[in-house]
Amino acid sequence: MTSTQARRMRRPVLQAAIDVGAKCVQADPDLFSRADGEPPATWQAQRAEAIGFCRGCPVRAACEELALRDGDGNPRIDDLVRGGRSGYELVALRELQAQRLTAAITADEASDQEWNELRDLAVKLNREARRMPTRSGGMPHQAALLRQQNERIAELAAKLAVVRTARRARTGWEVAA
Ligand code: SF4
Repeated sequence: MTSTQARRMRRPVLQAAIDVGAKCVQADPDLFSRADGEPPATWQAQRAEAIGFCRGCPVRAACEELALRDGDGNPRIDDLVRGGRSGYELVALRELQAQRLTAAITADEASDQEWNELRDLAVKLNREARRMPTRSGGMPHQAALLRQQNERIAELAAKLAVVRTARRARTGWEVAA
């Protein structure tokens, strides 16, 4: 994965790539963080080791991108390594790429909202489809209730299709997927 490809991916895809490919699952997690009161000289050596470790990680670009989107790094304290970058480097990169990252974070949030909407509509549709109209009131009454239920199902299905089609088109899947 190149860093350009990684930057175009959305947050869940970045996270999934890291979940399956992170090299640091084999490392001591403490390697990537400065301990409380750790002297600068010790931390510098540890930081260099951590950055070197990340260099061979197959998902380094995705990890760096997620660290930038997550706001990792502190301009006042040099205390972590993520995605092969020190905290200070992440802060500097975030400033350099502020416009792009703001757009990426906004897109992540919109994607989350869209996903929640999709899920809510699917739940409502499922619930409506399982609901049995009341048996009281005779045949004409029941037929009217069924008609209303069918209309609600059709309306929910249409809304679901609109959100799903927009999501697929935006993420490049179009109608076939
Ligand atoms: S780049 Fe470094 S911190 Fe990120 S997943 Fe790979 S090894 Fe872990």
